[in-house]
Formats: sequence, C-alpha cells, structure tokens
Amino acid sequence: MIRLNLDPTCIDLTTLYDNRGRPINYVRLAVTDRCNLRCFYCMPEEGIRYLPKKHLLTFEEIERLISILAAMGITKVRLTGGEPFVRNDLMKLINKISEIPGIQDLHLTTNGVLTAPHVPELKKLGIASVNLSLDTLDKSRFFAITRRDEFEPVMKTLHLLLDHEIPVKINAVVMDGKNIDDIIPLIELSKDHAVDIRFIEEMPFTGEGNHYPTLTWTYKKILQYIQEHYTLVKIPDAPFSTSYNYKVPGYKGNIGVIAAFSRTFCGTCNRIRLTAQGTLKTCLYDDGALDIRQLLRRGASDDEIKSNLLKAFNSRAKDGFEAEARRGNHLPVSESMSTIGG
Ligand code: SAM
Repeated sequence: MIRLNLDPTCIDLTTLYDNRGRPINYVRLAVTDRCNLRCFYCMPEEGIRYLPKKHLLTFEEIERLISILAAMGITKVRLTGGEPFVRNDLMKLINKISEIPGIQDLHLTTNGVLTAPHVPELKKLGIASVNLSLDTLDKSRFFAITRRDEFEPVMKTLHLLLDHEIPVKINAVVMDGKNIDDIIPLIELSKDHAVDIRFIEEMPFTGEGNHYPTLTWTYKKILQYIQEHYTLVKIPDAPFSTSYNYKVPGYKGNIGVIAAFSRTFCGTCNRIRLTAQGTLKTCLYDDGALDIRQLLRRGASDDEIKSNLLKAFNSRAKDGFEAEARRGNHLPVSESMSTIGG
C-alpha cells in the first residue's frame, strides 16, 4: 500500500508502507546460492544441491526488478548470497545498481574470501558499507567453523576495507561451544579500528533442519557475557536497526547484539528479501510471499509486477513468529541461509 505519511511536517508521497504501517525502503538480494565457505551453521559440508544457473535471476532481471522497487520507494539495496563474489562479473552488477535512480545506499555482505581485489572499485563507486562475516580471529577455529582454509584472504579484505575508509561491520554468529572465546578478541578489534562488531544469535537456517530446541546464546546472554568483561555504554540505535548498540568507552568501533532468533525487532522491520531464485520474502522466517522470477519470465508488465508486490507487502506477517507459523508444510525451518542471504 502506498499512502501519505501523515506527519504534517513531513509529507512524503513516496514512502511505501506495509499492512501494519511499517515503512519498507530496504531490499536484500541474494545474487547466488553458491558459497566458497561451508560454515556449519549455514550449509551442510557435502551434498548441497545448488540451483541450476538458469534458475538464478539474470543481471537484466535484477536491474529491472530493482528499478521497479526503486520507483515504488525502495532506497537501500544490499547484495548478499551465497557469497556474492562467487557470481561472475558481480562488479558489473554492482555498478549498474549504483546508477539506478532512487537507490541512495548500496551495501554488500560478504565473507571476504574473494573481495580484496575489488575494494578500490567499491570505494570508487561509493559503496555505503560492507558487512564482513567473521566469527573468529583464530585461524584454526576459522577452519573448524567454515571448513575452508581461507582466514588470510578474509583478514586482508578487512584491512583493505579499513584502509579505504569504507564503513565495515563484522558479523559474528555466536555459537555455543564453538566461538565463545572469540567474543572478547573480536571486541578488542574495535579498540583501535573504527569497525562495528555485531554478535548475532544463531538461527535455524542450517540447510539441515537441525536447530536446537532452545537457544543457549540468546542476545541477553551474549550481552550479559560482554558486560561481565566491559562497562558498556548504550548508544542510540539507528532507525530500523536490528542491533542493540553499545560502546566500550575509548574504543573506536561500536558493539551490536542482534536478536535474530528471539526476533525482538520485527515491529520496525523495513526490509524485504529476494532469494537467489527470485522469490520475494517479506520476512526472513516466511517461506516465500511471491515468485517474482516466474512473473518476470512470463512477460509481466512493470505495473503487473508492482501490483503483485503491493499485494505481498499488504499481507505481511506481524513478526517472525507469525511468519514461521504460517509456513504450512515447510516446517521446521530448514533451508540454508545461503539461498536467503541473511
Ligand atoms: N557469503 C556472505 C557472508 O558470508 O557474509 C553473505 C551470505 S551469508 C548467508 C549472510 C550472513 O548470514 C552471514 O553473516 C552469516 O554469518 C549469516 N548466517 C548464515 N547462517 C546463519 C545462521 N544459521 N544463523 C545466524 N546467522 C547466519
């Protein structure tokens, strides 16, 4: 539903709202489901059935879709995956999207393995920020978690991003028995570097459906653990922020904790997702609200695509729990995050 923002000081004809009055201005797009790491909390080590290439949206389809979304009010795009840099010619797509009228902020989520050579170009085209997934600063634990020996290239990417003054957020999934000892070293990284460290609750998107019945390392426990080691100062959370944000006094970077499994931020959720196969998700936990690839490929007009999108935005679940409950036969949640993009 497109409607007036009724704040008289801010008449805004272009804002897009969902059925619950939440503005939608942010799309996260998985450009591939393939990845060059095998993080155990995201994908099985073997036996992954990747999508056939023809099932991925083409660059032309992605550009058309983002242009349609931009005309509807989307201003922020994040490219993710799978690992976005595993897709051939990703930089061509990034350049094209950066030129789409209405797209003000372009962001990227990457594991950093193949990213370093592209950092200067990312800087040049004005990338707004890069989220780098890094669960540990210990090389052997990195191998144990990701099942690939790629720690050095990731660290090279991190330092190049910092050298180029591209805003960086490190995403670290907190995993019981796996990387608790990494929480403090990761925070220490923010002492001398202007990098935000965000600790994320582990979610059920493992590709195998083997999540814990109850989560031990909830955002509350993560926060409590950090507070046992530091005096944290609360800093304001940006509008639509998914993280609770803090600062260690004197440290250059900030600390964030993301209640991704506890789902405390759904009331202000401003984001939609497009999976690698072109399915719209209006919540991370739903099982697909609209098959956009099918619409694009059967020759639907821009207006037809828009009206289908609006219909989906207009029946959005209240929160991630409602979205999960509506999944019908597709329970428990078991798909890999690599098809969704995080
Ligand atoms: N390959 C890129 C990367 O590693 O950043 C982008 C895709 S990855 C699926 C996006 C984010 O999802 C990463 O930060 C990753 O840690 C997170 N993620 C994947 N599976 C997860 C899970 N089961 N629980 C919480 N976060 C998860």
